[in-house]
Amino acid sequence: MKLYKIKKSKIDKNGLYANCNIEKGKKIIEYKGKIISIKKSEKDPKFNNKKAIYLFNINKRFDLDGDFKFNIARLINHSCEPNCEVFGQGLKVWVYAMKDIKKGEELSYDYGFSYDEDYKDFPCKCRSKKCVGYILREGSRWRLKRRNKKNGK
Ligand SMILES: [Zn+2]
Repeated sequence: MKLYKIKKSKIDKNGLYANCNIEKGKKIIEYKGKIISIKKSEKDPKFNNKKAIYLFNINKRFDLDGDFKFNIARLINHSCEPNCEVFGQGLKVWVYAMKDIKKGEELSYDYGFSYDEDYKDFPCKCRSKKCVGYILREGSRWRLKRRNKKNGK
């Protein structure tokens, strides 16, 4: 049985949802794409954007470009309180459950965007209690909070 299904998302467009209860640590779906050398991805204007969200670094020499229709995992939305994480195993990239997930929950992971001036172009609609309003990686969210404090928000 497939662990996920595609459904209209509460966060953005279509998303993936748990099709059954999923235990923490379980592999849910492969993040499929094409392996390209970092030399190539660095030169390609397609990736000439800090927020090339479908590009994953695999090792010192290779990236994985997941910007293809056959890569169902690319439908997974960002959340400030995610239940999945994505990491590589050899030359493959997998989406894992980082906590126990109940049937019907939307799958999400931290897109890992860094904090820079264009963060405002990427609002987050995850609606979790921890939501900071923008798609920012966990390690960068304090910068936004500090900025808001300074501006009296
Ligand atoms: Zn959020």
